[in-house]
Amino acid sequence: MDASEHGLHRVISPKGVLPQQAEVLDTSLPLRRGEVMIDVERLNLDAASFHQLLEETGGHPEELRMRVVSIVKARGKMHNPATGSGGMLIGTVAGVGEGREEPRRGDRIATLVSLTLTPLVLYSVAEWDGQTEQIPVEGYAILFANGLYANLPDDLPDALSLAVLDVAGAPAQVARLAREKRRVLVIGGGGKSGILSLFAARDAGAKAFALVPTEAEADEVRALGFESFVADASDPAAAMELLDARADLVVNCVNVPGTEAASILLAEEGGTVLFFSMATSFTAAALSAEGMGRDVQMLIGSGYVPGHAELALNLLAAHPDLRRVFEDRYT
Ligand code: NAP
Repeated sequence: MDASEHGLHRVISPKGVLPQQAEVLDTSLPLRRGEVMIDVERLNLDAASFHQLLEETGGHPEELRMRVVSIVKARGKMHNPATGSGGMLIGTVAGVGEGREEPRRGDRIATLVSLTLTPLVLYSVAEWDGQTEQIPVEGYAILFANGLYANLPDDLPDALSLAVLDVAGAPAQVARLAREKRRVLVIGGGGKSGILSLFAARDAGAKAFALVPTEAEADEVRALGFESFVADASDPAAAMELLDARADLVVNCVNVPGTEAASILLAEEGGTVLFFSMATSFTAAALSAEGMGRDVQMLIGSGYVPGHAELALNLLAAHPDLRRVFEDRYT
């Protein structure tokens, strides 16, 4: 098959689907037209995938490592079969297929497309202790002709850039939506996408506040100037206690399943819920809204918004306290 800009030629099974939906991808070399080969240095597992793998393996580093290696070996991509989610990666451009000029060999880049559609071969996963979703690896990945990427900034540590770029879609969408809103509640507001979303909402002129699962996280978020509530978002009864905190935009940034009902309950009638979490179930969201008789607009949080990488990195540059939180966590 001729090289397709969407990577159709890399699908082994089932035939006819796009790489994201594929069970198995072809990782073979040489590069086809327009493709980019990346020497991979670090993977960032999507938070829902990482959380699920931790549960499945009991957090044992060796089992975690083996599970990641076996998924990549079986599928030719890091596509968690349980959560359906992936993550992204950073590395150095090792080769560029015919018909393409950028990026150039030697450029250090982050992919801005999901690992669920990125052909990947791992040679080793040596030093990962399983404590963080970032995995130092050796191997190579292939970006298709239309695959989005960002050049890694020189002034930020790689681990920090990777953490921010992984979730850049969240603040970018919040920045767009919050312009029309008064109150923005971020569920899981203490995580990566959550904190970025809080700053994006406040910069857009809305009052932004957070729902987090622990007092420690609430204190961290309060120290950044955002009001915070402590509750388990997978417990709708707990959400009922917080109805005074209802917002006209609710942003779901958690890494666990079962939080659709609370998100819907905490949106004002006629308000909007943005489900950025990969642990969201369409069925649970649709049927919970129906069951509770709530008229809210529900949006799927896409990982891509034009300019999202710049927007997220600019947020860090504009807010030294935000940058400090990411530095503390990722450097
Ligand atoms: P993260 O840094 O792990 O943050 C998730 C936050 O949710 C954590 O602070 C966590 O608290 C909190 N949380 C967990 N259980 C909760 C509960 N029951 N009630 C309230 N809060 C709870 O994750 P992230 O990297 O920001 O990612 C957030 C979500 O976005 C994940 O589902 C991820 O898969 C998804 N994602 C989506 C896209 C996309 O394209 N839409 C792209 C990237 C990531 P603890 O740490 O204390 O448990």
